[in-house]
Amino acid sequence: MSAPRAFEREPYLTELSVRVVAAGTDGGRPWAVLDDTVFYPEGGGQPCDQGRLGGVQVLDVRSVDGEIRHVLAAPVPEGPAVARIDWERRFDHMQQHTGQHLLTAIAAERFGWETTAFHLGPETCDIELAVASVSPLDRTRLEEAVAAEIRAARTVSQRRIRAEEVASLPVRTRGLPEGHQGDVRLVEIEGIDLNTCGGTHLRTTGEIEALKVLGTERLRGGTRLFFVAGGRVRRRLAAHEDRSARLRVLLGAPDDALVEALEAKLVQLSAAQKALRSAGDELADSRAEALARSGVPVAEAHFEGHDMAFLLGIGRRFSELPAPGVVFLTASGDGVEAFVLAAGGASAADVQSLGQTVATSLEGRGGGSGKIFQGKGRLAERGSALSVLRERLGALRSADS
Ligand SMILES: [Zn+2]
Repeated sequence: MSAPRAFEREPYLTELSVRVVAAGTDGGRPWAVLDDTVFYPEGGGQPCDQGRLGGVQVLDVRSVDGEIRHVLAAPVPEGPAVARIDWERRFDHMQQHTGQHLLTAIAAERFGWETTAFHLGPETCDIELAVASVSPLDRTRLEEAVAAEIRAARTVSQRRIRAEEVASLPVRTRGLPEGHQGDVRLVEIEGIDLNTCGGTHLRTTGEIEALKVLGTERLRGGTRLFFVAGGRVRRRLAAHEDRSARLRVLLGAPDDALVEALEAKLVQLSAAQKALRSAGDELADSRAEALARSGVPVAEAHFEGHDMAFLLGIGRRFSELPAPGVVFLTASGDGVEAFVLAAGGASAADVQSLGQTVATSLEGRGGGSGKIFQGKGRLAERGSALSVLRERLGALRSADS
Protein backbone atom coordinates (compact mmCIF):
# COMPACT_ATOMS: atom_id res chain seq x y z
CA MET A 1 0.00 0.00 0.00
CA SER A 2 1.42 3.38 -1.01
CA ALA A 3 1.70 6.41 1.28
CA PRO A 4 -1.68 7.66 2.53
CA ARG A 5 -3.31 10.14 0.17
CA ALA A 6 -5.24 13.21 1.31
CA PHE A 7 -8.64 11.47 0.99
CA GLU A 8 -7.37 8.86 3.45
CA ARG A 9 -5.62 11.27 5.87
CA GLU A 10 -8.44 13.82 5.86
CA PRO A 11 -11.70 12.44 4.49
CA TYR A 12 -13.44 15.79 5.13
CA LEU A 13 -11.01 17.74 2.95
CA THR A 14 -12.77 18.94 -0.20
CA GLU A 15 -10.06 20.96 -1.92
CA LEU A 16 -6.29 20.61 -2.32
CA SER A 17 -3.51 22.41 -4.20
CA VAL A 18 -1.73 19.71 -6.17
CA ARG A 19 0.71 19.18 -9.02
CA VAL A 20 -0.11 17.22 -12.14
CA VAL A 21 2.94 14.94 -12.36
CA ALA A 22 1.89 12.76 -15.29
CA ALA A 23 -0.74 12.95 -18.00
CA GLY A 24 -1.88 10.81 -20.91
CA THR A 25 -4.88 9.42 -22.73
CA ASP A 26 -6.56 6.05 -22.58
CA GLY A 27 -9.20 5.10 -25.13
CA GLY A 28 -9.27 8.74 -26.27
CA ARG A 29 -9.97 10.05 -22.75
CA PRO A 30 -7.35 12.25 -21.08
CA TRP A 31 -6.13 11.37 -17.59
CA ALA A 32 -3.82 12.93 -15.00
CA VAL A 33 -1.82 11.62 -12.04
CA LEU A 34 -1.31 14.05 -9.13
CA ASP A 35 1.37 14.30 -6.45
CA ASP A 36 -1.45 13.93 -3.87
CA THR A 37 -5.23 13.76 -4.20
CA VAL A 38 -8.56 14.33 -2.49
CA PHE A 39 -10.26 12.11 -5.09
CA TYR A 40 -11.17 8.62 -3.86
CA PRO A 41 -10.71 6.00 -6.60
CA GLU A 42 -13.41 3.38 -7.02
CA GLY A 43 -12.86 0.41 -4.70
CA GLY A 44 -14.27 -1.76 -1.89
CA GLY A 45 -17.83 -1.18 -3.06
CA GLN A 46 -17.51 2.62 -2.86
CA PRO A 47 -17.79 4.50 -6.17
CA CYS A 48 -15.13 7.07 -7.09
CA ASP A 49 -15.34 10.77 -6.41
CA GLN A 50 -16.10 13.30 -9.10
CA GLY A 51 -15.35 17.02 -9.19
CA ARG A 52 -12.93 19.38 -10.89
CA LEU A 53 -9.22 19.56 -11.53
CA GLY A 54 -8.05 23.01 -12.58
CA GLY A 55 -11.62 23.79 -13.70
CA VAL A 56 -11.86 20.63 -15.81
CA GLN A 57 -14.46 18.03 -14.95
CA VAL A 58 -13.14 14.84 -13.31
CA LEU A 59 -15.34 12.06 -14.67
CA ASP A 60 -13.79 8.96 -13.19
CA VAL A 61 -10.98 8.06 -10.77
CA ARG A 62 -9.31 4.67 -10.68
CA SER A 63 -6.21 2.93 -9.40
CA VAL A 64 -3.98 1.71 -12.22
CA ASP A 65 -0.77 -0.12 -11.23
CA GLY A 66 -0.56 1.68 -7.89
CA GLU A 67 -1.12 5.19 -9.28
CA ILE A 68 -4.42 7.07 -9.17
CA ARG A 69 -5.61 8.19 -12.57
CA HIS A 70 -8.11 11.05 -12.80
CA VAL A 71 -10.07 10.65 -16.04
CA LEU A 72 -10.88 14.11 -17.37
CA ALA A 73 -13.34 15.81 -19.75
CA ALA A 74 -10.35 17.69 -21.26
CA PRO A 75 -6.56 17.49 -20.84
CA VAL A 76 -4.91 19.33 -17.91
CA PRO A 77 -1.21 20.22 -18.41
CA GLU A 78 1.51 19.11 -16.01
CA GLY A 79 2.16 21.62 -13.21
CA PRO A 80 0.15 23.16 -10.36
CA ALA A 81 -3.66 22.87 -10.22
CA VAL A 82 -6.48 22.88 -7.69
CA ALA A 83 -8.34 19.61 -7.09
CA ARG A 84 -11.90 19.96 -5.74
CA ILE A 85 -14.30 17.10 -5.11
CA ASP A 86 -18.08 17.10 -5.44
CA TRP A 87 -18.65 17.06 -1.68
CA GLU A 88 -22.36 16.27 -1.81
CA ARG A 89 -21.57 13.08 -3.73
CA ARG A 90 -18.67 12.16 -1.44
CA PHE A 91 -20.56 12.79 1.80
CA ASP A 92 -23.44 10.67 0.49
CA HIS A 93 -20.94 7.86 -0.20
CA MET A 94 -19.45 8.26 3.29
CA GLN A 95 -22.91 7.96 4.84
CA GLN A 96 -23.82 4.85 2.83
CA HIS A 97 -20.38 3.28 3.32
CA THR A 98 -20.15 3.89 7.07
CA GLY A 99 -23.76 2.75 7.37
CA GLN A 100 -22.73 -0.47 5.67
CA HIS A 101 -19.87 -1.02 8.17
CA LEU A 102 -22.34 -0.70 11.03
CA LEU A 103 -24.97 -2.89 9.36
CA THR A 104 -22.40 -5.58 8.55
CA ALA A 105 -20.95 -5.53 12.09
CA ILE A 106 -24.35 -5.84 13.77
CA ALA A 107 -25.58 -8.49 11.31
CA ALA A 108 -22.47 -10.56 12.17
CA GLU A 109 -22.27 -9.93 15.95
CA ARG A 110 -25.96 -10.11 16.88
CA PHE A 111 -27.33 -12.42 14.20
CA GLY A 112 -24.33 -14.43 12.96
CA TRP A 113 -24.84 -13.35 9.34
CA GLU A 114 -21.59 -12.68 7.50
CA THR A 115 -21.52 -10.06 4.73
CA THR A 116 -20.11 -11.44 1.48
CA ALA A 117 -20.61 -8.42 -0.81
CA PHE A 118 -21.46 -4.71 -0.75
CA HIS A 119 -22.80 -2.57 -3.56
CA LEU A 120 -23.32 1.19 -3.36
CA GLY A 121 -25.71 2.18 -6.15
CA PRO A 122 -26.85 5.65 -7.22
CA GLU A 123 -30.26 5.18 -5.52
CA THR A 124 -29.97 2.27 -3.11
CA CYS A 125 -27.25 0.13 -1.51
CA ASP A 126 -27.22 -3.57 -0.80
CA ILE A 127 -25.21 -6.15 1.08
CA GLU A 128 -25.24 -9.88 0.53
CA LEU A 129 -25.63 -11.91 3.72
CA ALA A 130 -24.66 -15.56 4.11
CA VAL A 131 -28.09 -16.58 5.42
CA ALA A 132 -30.87 -18.31 3.47
CA SER A 133 -33.57 -15.82 4.50
CA VAL A 134 -34.27 -12.93 6.87
CA SER A 135 -37.70 -12.78 8.52
CA PRO A 136 -39.59 -9.46 8.71
CA LEU A 137 -39.17 -9.55 12.50
CA ASP A 138 -35.38 -10.03 12.25
CA ARG A 139 -35.24 -7.25 9.68
CA THR A 140 -36.91 -4.90 12.15
CA ARG A 141 -34.60 -6.05 14.98
CA LEU A 142 -31.54 -5.49 12.79
CA GLU A 143 -32.74 -2.02 11.85
CA GLU A 144 -33.45 -1.13 15.48
CA ALA A 145 -30.02 -2.37 16.63
CA VAL A 146 -28.40 -0.20 13.93
CA ALA A 147 -30.51 2.81 14.99
CA ALA A 148 -29.35 2.37 18.61
CA GLU A 149 -25.69 2.50 17.51
CA ILE A 150 -26.36 5.57 15.35
CA ARG A 151 -27.87 7.30 18.40
CA ALA A 152 -24.82 6.24 20.46
CA ALA A 153 -22.67 8.33 18.06
CA ARG A 154 -19.71 5.98 18.29
CA THR A 155 -16.35 7.27 17.10
CA VAL A 156 -15.12 5.95 13.76
CA SER A 157 -11.34 6.02 13.34
CA GLN A 158 -8.75 4.70 10.94
CA ARG A 159 -5.14 3.68 11.29
CA ARG A 160 -2.49 1.66 9.48
CA ILE A 161 -0.78 -1.43 10.86
CA ARG A 162 1.80 -3.84 9.47
CA ALA A 163 0.31 -6.77 7.53
CA GLU A 164 1.77 -9.32 9.99
CA GLU A 165 -0.12 -7.67 12.89
CA VAL A 166 -3.52 -8.40 11.32
CA ALA A 167 -3.58 -11.99 12.56
CA SER A 168 -3.22 -10.88 16.22
CA LEU A 169 -6.23 -8.53 16.08
CA PRO A 170 -9.99 -9.32 15.97
CA VAL A 171 -10.22 -7.91 12.46
CA ARG A 172 -13.22 -8.47 10.23
CA THR A 173 -12.04 -8.74 6.64
CA ARG A 174 -13.29 -9.97 3.33
CA GLY A 175 -9.62 -10.64 2.48
CA LEU A 176 -6.87 -8.32 1.32
CA PRO A 177 -6.54 -7.61 -2.41
CA GLU A 178 -4.36 -10.11 -4.25
CA GLY A 179 -0.69 -9.09 -4.26
CA HIS A 180 -1.20 -6.75 -1.28
CA GLN A 181 2.08 -5.44 0.12
CA GLY A 182 3.02 -3.24 3.06
CA ASP A 183 0.61 -1.66 5.55
CA VAL A 184 -2.97 -2.62 6.14
CA ARG A 185 -5.56 0.06 6.80
CA LEU A 186 -7.97 -0.57 9.64
CA VAL A 187 -11.27 1.17 10.24
CA GLU A 188 -12.68 0.94 13.73
CA ILE A 189 -16.16 1.71 15.03
CA GLU A 190 -15.47 2.14 18.72
CA GLY A 191 -16.53 -0.93 20.66
CA ILE A 192 -18.29 -2.55 17.70
CA ASP A 193 -16.11 -3.27 14.72
CA LEU A 194 -12.56 -3.50 13.44
CA ASN A 195 -12.34 -3.86 9.71
CA THR A 196 -9.80 -3.69 6.89
CA CYS A 197 -10.95 -0.96 4.50
CA GLY A 198 -9.45 1.67 2.22
CA GLY A 199 -12.64 3.74 1.83
CA THR A 200 -13.70 7.10 3.25
CA HIS A 201 -15.72 7.15 6.48
CA LEU A 202 -17.66 9.49 8.74
CA ARG A 203 -16.21 10.70 12.07
CA THR A 204 -18.99 9.13 14.15
CA THR A 205 -21.91 6.80 13.56
CA GLY A 206 -24.16 9.74 14.52
CA GLU A 207 -23.42 11.28 11.12
CA ILE A 208 -25.11 8.31 9.44
CA GLU A 209 -28.31 10.09 10.60
CA ALA A 210 -30.55 7.07 9.91
CA LEU A 211 -30.46 3.74 8.11
CA LYS A 212 -33.55 2.15 6.61
CA VAL A 213 -33.74 -1.44 5.38
CA LEU A 214 -35.83 -1.38 2.21
CA GLY A 215 -36.27 -5.07 1.58
CA THR A 216 -34.58 -8.40 0.97
CA GLU A 217 -34.40 -10.91 -1.84
CA ARG A 218 -32.96 -14.41 -2.02
CA LEU A 219 -29.82 -14.71 -4.07
CA ARG A 220 -27.46 -17.65 -4.71
CA GLY A 221 -28.44 -19.35 -1.44
CA GLY A 222 -27.91 -16.12 0.52
CA THR A 223 -29.93 -12.97 1.07
CA ARG A 224 -29.48 -9.58 -0.54
CA LEU A 225 -30.57 -6.82 1.78
CA PHE A 226 -31.33 -3.37 0.35
CA PHE A 227 -30.90 -0.21 2.41
CA VAL A 228 -30.41 3.55 2.31
CA ALA A 229 -28.64 5.75 4.84
CA GLY A 230 -28.31 9.45 5.68
CA GLY A 231 -29.68 12.04 3.28
CA ARG A 232 -31.04 9.28 1.07
CA VAL A 233 -33.52 8.35 3.82
CA ARG A 234 -34.92 11.89 3.84
CA ARG A 235 -34.93 12.18 0.04
CA ARG A 236 -36.67 8.85 -0.29
CA LEU A 237 -39.24 9.76 2.35
CA ALA A 238 -39.87 13.08 0.57
CA ALA A 239 -40.47 11.20 -2.70
CA HIS A 240 -42.87 8.82 -0.92
CA GLU A 241 -44.72 11.78 0.61
CA ASP A 242 -45.06 13.54 -2.76
CA ARG A 243 -46.32 10.36 -4.35
CA SER A 244 -48.79 9.73 -1.51
CA ALA A 245 -50.10 13.30 -1.72
CA ARG A 246 -50.79 12.90 -5.45
CA LEU A 247 -52.41 9.50 -4.91
CA ARG A 248 -54.62 10.92 -2.12
CA VAL A 249 -55.96 13.48 -4.59
CA LEU A 250 -56.33 10.99 -7.45
CA LEU A 251 -58.00 8.29 -5.38
CA GLY A 252 -59.82 10.48 -2.87
CA ALA A 253 -58.62 8.38 0.04
CA PRO A 254 -56.34 8.84 3.07
CA ASP A 255 -52.87 7.20 3.11
CA ASP A 256 -53.96 4.08 4.96
CA ALA A 257 -56.78 3.41 2.47
CA LEU A 258 -54.87 4.10 -0.77
CA VAL A 259 -54.17 0.46 -1.60
CA GLU A 260 -57.79 -0.63 -1.05
CA ALA A 261 -59.02 2.38 -3.06
CA LEU A 262 -56.73 1.48 -5.97
CA GLU A 263 -57.69 -2.20 -5.80
CA ALA A 264 -61.37 -1.22 -6.00
CA LYS A 265 -60.63 1.02 -9.02
CA LEU A 266 -58.80 -1.82 -10.77
CA VAL A 267 -61.75 -4.16 -10.24
CA GLN A 268 -64.06 -1.48 -11.69
CA LEU A 269 -61.69 -0.93 -14.60
CA SER A 270 -61.55 -4.63 -15.38
CA ALA A 271 -65.36 -4.85 -15.39
CA ALA A 272 -65.62 -1.73 -17.57
CA GLN A 273 -63.09 -3.13 -20.05
CA LYS A 274 -65.03 -6.36 -20.26
CA ALA A 275 -68.29 -4.48 -20.89
CA LEU A 276 -66.56 -2.29 -23.48
CA ARG A 277 -65.17 -5.32 -25.32
CA SER A 278 -68.60 -6.89 -25.38
CA ALA A 279 -70.20 -3.66 -26.67
CA GLY A 280 -67.42 -3.33 -29.25
CA ASP A 281 -68.07 -6.87 -30.48
CA GLU A 282 -71.79 -6.14 -30.78
CA LEU A 283 -71.07 -2.90 -32.63
CA ALA A 284 -68.68 -4.66 -35.02
CA ASP A 285 -71.27 -7.37 -35.67
CA SER A 286 -74.06 -4.89 -36.43
CA ARG A 287 -71.77 -2.78 -38.67
CA ALA A 288 -70.63 -5.89 -40.54
CA GLU A 289 -74.24 -7.05 -40.98
CA ALA A 290 -75.35 -3.64 -42.31
CA LEU A 291 -72.42 -3.52 -44.76
CA ALA A 292 -73.14 -7.09 -45.91
CA ARG A 293 -76.83 -6.28 -46.46
CA SER A 294 -75.91 -3.46 -48.85
CA GLY A 295 -75.00 -6.18 -51.39
CA VAL A 296 -72.69 -3.86 -53.40
CA PRO A 297 -69.41 -5.21 -54.89
CA VAL A 298 -67.37 -2.83 -52.69
CA ALA A 299 -68.95 -1.78 -49.40
CA GLU A 300 -66.97 0.82 -47.48
CA ALA A 301 -66.90 2.72 -44.19
CA HIS A 302 -64.56 5.02 -42.29
CA PHE A 303 -64.33 5.17 -38.49
CA GLU A 304 -62.77 8.22 -36.86
CA GLY A 305 -61.07 7.59 -33.50
CA HIS A 306 -61.02 3.81 -33.92
CA ASP A 307 -58.13 1.42 -34.35
CA MET A 308 -57.05 -1.62 -36.34
CA ALA A 309 -58.54 -4.02 -33.79
CA PHE A 310 -61.97 -2.45 -34.33
CA LEU A 311 -61.64 -2.73 -38.12
CA LEU A 312 -60.51 -6.35 -37.86
CA GLY A 313 -63.57 -7.15 -35.72
CA ILE A 314 -65.88 -5.86 -38.49
CA GLY A 315 -63.77 -7.45 -41.24
CA ARG A 316 -63.79 -10.91 -39.63
CA ARG A 317 -67.53 -10.80 -39.00
CA PHE A 318 -68.10 -9.62 -42.60
CA SER A 319 -66.07 -12.57 -43.94
CA GLU A 320 -68.34 -14.97 -42.05
CA LEU A 321 -71.54 -13.53 -43.57
CA PRO A 322 -72.78 -14.79 -46.97
CA ALA A 323 -71.99 -11.44 -48.65
CA PRO A 324 -71.05 -11.48 -52.36
CA GLY A 325 -68.73 -8.43 -52.27
CA VAL A 326 -65.78 -7.07 -50.33
CA VAL A 327 -65.65 -4.43 -47.63
CA PHE A 328 -63.04 -1.67 -47.46
CA LEU A 329 -62.71 -0.28 -43.92
CA THR A 330 -60.54 2.59 -42.76
CA ALA A 331 -59.87 4.19 -39.38
CA SER A 332 -57.75 6.98 -38.02
CA GLY A 333 -56.89 7.75 -34.43
CA ASP A 334 -53.80 8.48 -32.30
CA GLY A 335 -51.89 9.44 -35.45
CA VAL A 336 -52.38 6.01 -37.04
CA GLU A 337 -54.23 5.52 -40.34
CA ALA A 338 -55.29 1.92 -40.82
CA PHE A 339 -57.27 -0.09 -43.32
CA VAL A 340 -58.78 -3.54 -43.60
CA LEU A 341 -60.04 -5.27 -46.69
CA ALA A 342 -62.27 -8.32 -46.20
CA ALA A 343 -64.21 -10.54 -48.57
CA GLY A 344 -67.69 -11.81 -47.79
CA GLY A 345 -68.35 -15.53 -47.38
CA ALA A 346 -69.89 -15.71 -50.86
CA SER A 347 -67.11 -13.74 -52.61
CA ALA A 348 -64.38 -15.34 -54.71
CA ALA A 349 -62.23 -12.17 -54.73
CA ASP A 350 -58.47 -12.58 -54.21
CA VAL A 351 -58.25 -10.40 -51.11
CA GLN A 352 -54.47 -10.67 -50.77
CA SER A 353 -53.86 -9.39 -54.30
CA LEU A 354 -56.51 -6.64 -53.93
CA GLY A 355 -55.04 -5.68 -50.54
CA GLN A 356 -51.60 -5.14 -52.05
CA THR A 357 -53.20 -2.90 -54.70
CA VAL A 358 -54.96 -0.89 -51.99
CA ALA A 359 -51.75 -0.62 -49.95
CA THR A 360 -49.93 0.71 -53.03
CA SER A 361 -52.70 3.25 -53.70
CA LEU A 362 -52.45 4.44 -50.09
CA GLU A 363 -48.63 4.61 -50.33
CA GLY A 364 -48.56 2.18 -47.42
CA ARG A 365 -48.05 -1.49 -46.70
CA GLY A 366 -49.85 -4.46 -45.30
CA GLY A 367 -50.43 -8.20 -45.28
CA GLY A 368 -52.91 -10.84 -44.31
CA SER A 369 -54.26 -14.30 -44.97
CA GLY A 370 -57.44 -15.85 -46.33
CA LYS A 371 -60.28 -13.37 -46.61
CA ILE A 372 -58.66 -10.62 -44.53
CA PHE A 373 -55.96 -8.08 -45.43
CA GLN A 374 -54.81 -5.35 -43.05
CA GLY A 375 -52.42 -2.46 -43.48
CA LYS A 376 -51.46 1.15 -42.86
CA GLY A 377 -51.22 4.00 -45.33
CA ARG A 378 -52.21 7.58 -46.14
CA LEU A 379 -55.99 7.94 -45.94
CA ALA A 380 -55.74 11.15 -47.98
CA GLU A 381 -55.51 8.66 -50.89
CA ARG A 382 -58.60 6.76 -49.72
CA GLY A 383 -60.70 7.92 -52.70
CA SER A 384 -58.23 6.70 -55.31
CA ALA A 385 -57.81 3.36 -53.46
CA LEU A 386 -61.59 2.94 -53.58
CA SER A 387 -61.70 3.75 -57.33
CA VAL A 388 -58.97 1.20 -58.07
CA LEU A 389 -60.79 -1.39 -55.97
CA ARG A 390 -64.12 -0.76 -57.75
CA GLU A 391 -62.40 -0.92 -61.11
CA ARG A 392 -60.65 -4.21 -60.30
CA LEU A 393 -63.83 -5.80 -58.97
CA GLY A 394 -65.94 -4.44 -61.84
CA ALA A 395 -63.45 -5.97 -64.29
CA LEU A 396 -63.58 -9.22 -62.32
CA ARG A 397 -67.36 -9.33 -62.54
CA SER A 398 -67.42 -8.63 -66.28
CA ALA A 399 -64.76 -11.34 -66.79
CA ASP A 400 -66.96 -13.77 -64.78
CA SER A 401 -70.08 -13.10 -66.82
ZN1 LIG B 1 -14.93 1.22 4.83
